[in-house]
Amino acid sequence: MNEYKLDTLCVQAGYRPETGESRIPQICQSTTFFYGDTQKMADLFDLKADGFFYSRLANPTVDALEKRVAALEGGAGAIGCASGMSAILLTAMTLCNAGDNIVCACEVYGGTYNLFGTTLPKLGVECRFFDADCEQDELEKLIDGKTRFVFAETVANPAIVVLDFDKVASVCKEKGVLFIVDNTLATPVLCRPLSLGANIVVHSTSKYMDGHAAALGGMIVDGGNFAFKGNPRYPAFNEPDESYHGLVYADLAVPFGTKCRAQMIRDTGAIMSPQNAFLTYLGSDTLSVRMEKHCSNAAKVAAYLAAHPKIEWVKHPSLPGDKYYERAKKYLPNGTGGMMSFGIRGDAKTCARFMEHLKLISQETHVADVRSCVLHPASTTHRQLSEQGLIDAGISANLVRLSVGIENPDDIIADLEQAFAQI
Ligand SMILES: *Cc1c(COP(=O)(O)O)cnc(C)c1O
Repeated sequence: MNEYKLDTLCVQAGYRPETGESRIPQICQSTTFFYGDTQKMADLFDLKADGFFYSRLANPTVDALEKRVAALEGGAGAIGCASGMSAILLTAMTLCNAGDNIVCACEVYGGTYNLFGTTLPKLGVECRFFDADCEQDELEKLIDGKTRFVFAETVANPAIVVLDFDKVASVCKEKGVLFIVDNTLATPVLCRPLSLGANIVVHSTSKYMDGHAAALGGMIVDGGNFAFKGNPRYPAFNEPDESYHGLVYADLAVPFGTKCRAQMIRDTGAIMSPQNAFLTYLGSDTLSVRMEKHCSNAAKVAAYLAAHPKIEWVKHPSLPGDKYYERAKKYLPNGTGGMMSFGIRGDAKTCARFMEHLKLISQETHVADVRSCVLHPASTTHRQLSEQGLIDAGISANLVRLSVGIENPDDIIADLEQAFAQI
């Protein structure tokens, strides 16, 4: 299957029916699965056989989506989680104990910034933030023997910073540390981090992957491309897991993914629901066509905004002259996505007035679905951040985040135009 192109994988990868079976995955609403054979059941618990026994660990509908996303990202396997945040939390819990540390780009999504910067430190895991555009040696200096992974977003939400993959990948490779990428806003249609040196990819499938604002979800994709065996940075992968009758994860084909499911999905229960997996699976059928339209609409809207007298600045990597224009050509050659941010000449109140006058584009705490929407991060998603935190995250008081949908671009621009006329 993996030899097919991305747009083929979007509709064909994942679930393959046998003769007479349903064409698309069914919503398998069952907590448990029947076995008449004790040995078969034991083999499942020993991870010697594939199968389902309890939906807190794995479920057929979730499995279909996991296989599809793993194929899209070119990974060895994937785990469906209840939300994007739970995917990121479980990834960290699989790798870190008290006393360990994480190295993370400071431009990441507000929820991730909070999890790594405030919540995990309460459990004894320290986070060291770096400016994604820092020099290579500054990043190197943050990594020590207790660093378990380096984390960044392909396209940062909402600062729209395009990641310098070569820099981070070469540092991680040299230090033998895992490189984890949140690929939510790029999606595998625009960028495949595993082919650029990343080892694990996480997603909030609540965004483009579902694409219809219908289902929360997260995904963890294991690249299966990291050498855990004998790596002194990862003792938990090289010593027997007493909570899983002595399993040594480094000896398995997919060490990270297996540990994550066998320990963390088991212990937290933060798996994706079958209903949400079904909706996300349907949504992902059209991912490649939607991304094409999001990208072409956004490029038109960004060009319109850049020429507008009431706009101070626009950030979208499709604009020649954007700080990330060249880097995006290298890492996101098929388009730079529908997310942009811009600064209105004025303050937070001017932004509020502008947003209240929009008729087609709605105000929502959401991005990356088929309908265009706006948000004022400084007063909503990022309001828990300090003034310095806002500056580090690249969020000014006049910043408006715009997620361009798949409506006709002329209608989107006309709506923006009439709202600008009111301020
Ligand atoms: C939304 C988002 C998340 C969190 O995902 P949820 O599904 O809302 O929990 C994580 N990372 C990025 C980049 C996001 O945009």
